[in-house]
Amino acid sequence: MEPNAAHYALARMEAEGRLEGVITQNIDGLHQKAGSVNVQEIHGTTLRNHCVFCRKEYDADYIFDSPDPVPKCTECGEMVRPDVTLYGEMLPSPAYDNALDLVNRADCLIIGGTSLEVGSAAQLAHKFHGNYLVIINKGKTRLTGKADLVFRDSIGKVLGEL
Ligand SMILES: [Zn+2]
Repeated sequence: MEPNAAHYALARMEAEGRLEGVITQNIDGLHQKAGSVNVQEIHGTTLRNHCVFCRKEYDADYIFDSPDPVPKCTECGEMVRPDVTLYGEMLPSPAYDNALDLVNRADCLIIGGTSLEVGSAAQLAHKFHGNYLVIINKGKTRLTGKADLVFRDSIGKVLGEL
């Protein structure tokens, strides 16, 4: 997969000093691939993986290059899995703490591509107490009524035109 217009627009805004960071539920690492530096992946990332038993860490290439459909740890032979949060798991995560800090300090929060129905992104969005809330989403979201600015379109199209 390759980054889209939204990924590149966010990376450019950060490089120009107009954006502090990105909080994402995606686990594909595309924000980093587009050039974003401060990326808080609240559901984890497939870029990092670990052994479920001894916690030895592996990069994504180890998983992709594994001849075994279930990659095994070179140390202990147990399963290696991505550092992602699967549904139902509540892992304490530095990314969530960093994301919360970003939201708490933000003057403007742009929420894109989520209906905010459930999950940690919705929790974070409700903690925002800055001045400007911007929502970019094709459908209505939980916070549409509270937003200062709403774009009913795809995030790639809107951010791509900035
Ligand atoms: Zn192991």
